[in-house]
Amino acid sequence: MSTFKDCALAFRFSAIDHLPEPPSPAAMRGSLVHAALEQLYARPAPERTLDTALTCLSEASTVFRALPEFAELELSAEDEPAFFAEADRLVRNALILEDPTTIHPIGIELRLEVELDGLKLIGIIDRLELDEDGRLVVTDYKTGRAPSERFEQGRLGGVHFYSLLCEELFGQRPAKVQLLHLHEPVTITSYPTEQSTRGLRRKVGALWQAVERACEREDFRPKPGPLCSWCSFQANCPAFGGELPAPPTVTPVEGPTLVRAS
Ligand code: SF4
Repeated sequence: MSTFKDCALAFRFSAIDHLPEPPSPAAMRGSLVHAALEQLYARPAPERTLDTALTCLSEASTVFRALPEFAELELSAEDEPAFFAEADRLVRNALILEDPTTIHPIGIELRLEVELDGLKLIGIIDRLELDEDGRLVVTDYKTGRAPSERFEQGRLGGVHFYSLLCEELFGQRPAKVQLLHLHEPVTITSYPTEQSTRGLRRKVGALWQAVERACEREDFRPKPGPLCSWCSFQANCPAFGGELPAPPTVTPVEGPTLVRAS
């Protein structure tokens, strides 16, 4: 959803053309930290100490070092220790933001799938937990820099989306959604309301219509902006002198689900 809003052409390259996106150190480090925290929260609450967290990180690092994608990063002899030192710092920061022994997770890396007005929505929640009153809380870890105050609410779109999935699936609107920005570290919290959920439902429907329209008209326009600096598709982007590949043929089946015809 956010990719389409940010740049329709980048959405096409990623979601329809499936152009390869080379791994980046930042994304790989984010996955590593998520994996360590996933292991931490799989342990019983009293065991979730800093030492355990660092053990989880060490175990996850061993797995990541063996991945072909890690080799593709081609980290230099100086960059590799810095890569793991930063992951260590981010995990320590997670424990500065909250005490893991007090958290009651009911789902880690939880995949939720719902049908909403005929549209299949899928989200993977970093952590779904219960607060002290037994109400749902959605938590998402972020390993990049936190946005400035001006852009805070915009960044919460993802967790509000997870909240909508929870409400549809469990019949209970989460009491709170929060982003744990591990870089700073800082927590950004929001409280979903009936109004915010209704607004999001409308946005999801409108956005899907826009995707369908773009597919029908084969009209995925580039939207140059600050995000271009991190975009993997500059070589194919006309805004950067690249050559646009021929549009894929897409055929609507079973309502709004799209599949490639070839
Ligand atoms: S380089 Fe910028 S304009 Fe081009 S596809 Fe990527 S985000 Fe869009």
